[in-house]
Amino acid sequence: MGRFFFIAKRFIAGESIENAVIVVKALNQLDLDVTLNLLGEGIKQPEQAESAVQNYIAVLDKICDEDLRANISLKLTHLGLNIDEEKCLEHLCQILEAAKERNLFVRLDMEGSLYTQQTLDIFYSLVDSYSNAGVVIQAMLLRSPHDIFVLNKIGASVRLCKGSYREPSELAVQKMPNIRSAYLSMAEQLLKDGNYPAFATHDDYLIDKIISYAEELGISSNQFEFQMLLGLRPNFQQEISRRGYRMRIYVPCGPEWMNYFYRRIRGNRENLWFVLRNLIRS
Ligand code: FAD
Repeated sequence: MGRFFFIAKRFIAGESIENAVIVVKALNQLDLDVTLNLLGEGIKQPEQAESAVQNYIAVLDKICDEDLRANISLKLTHLGLNIDEEKCLEHLCQILEAAKERNLFVRLDMEGSLYTQQTLDIFYSLVDSYSNAGVVIQAMLLRSPHDIFVLNKIGASVRLCKGSYREPSELAVQKMPNIRSAYLSMAEQLLKDGNYPAFATHDDYLIDKIISYAEELGISSNQFEFQMLLGLRPNFQQEISRRGYRMRIYVPCGPEWMNYFYRRIRGNRENLWFVLRNLIRS
């Protein structure tokens, strides 16, 4: 285990699936649902994609064996999208098939804009065969309102997030107030015409607005869910759940945690303070 894992473990469930199961059980006990992610992206060797498939199938088995309230989220570059698209599709189908047999849902995370179209094309090619698959849209991208329009038309399940990759101004909104208003207008699109949308954010402002909008439209709390990341605002996660909304926690695990950890602290003052406080104490 890396030297700084003692700090990262607030955000990452551990390096093994067994550790992750302990974390998932604890969250389930607090009435929080989970989506489990095996850390890994932009792999270099085809064998890494093959082992990711085996590991994901082992996770699906664990979810069933341990009766966990969980599904999975994965990144296509973990399955080799950046090496061989055809192979990646095969890998994804193996996982989707295994999930379908177990009645479990699979979310395709969205990576940087280099992969947006490929990820959506793969999703569109599978959605008729696998209704247990969903995708992610990043509110910061200028193309996203159109993508949501198309996804709503086919009844796809969408997770909406702000977007965690740096993107150029030709492709993405840059300023936070503008990202927030883009997020809200896409949330409205999803609440009105979407299929059980998931709103991934820790932002009180957005959460309050989404709740009021759903109330105004007469959309009940079981027609959408909120999602947050492990270790971010844990009290707030429980508060939302206690208010009667489904809250799903994204729980990453695995030895490849450094990139993920870096993304959590980059540009987020609260998380950076948490890390610095722990470094000073240690
Ligand atoms: P921020 O913009 O970081 O913060 C907004 C406000 O929220 C802050 O001002 C503060 O009031 C509050 N806040 C935030 N964090 C804290 C904290 N730790 N303590 C106290 N207050 C806080 N991105 C992708 O690009 N692709 C994906 O597939 C993807 N999947 C995701 C899945 C989930 C479940 C989640 C939650 C996020 C995902 N993201 C993904 C990341 C997302 O795009 C954002 O980068 C990330 O969520 C930060 O935006 P935010 O709205 O949550 O909060």
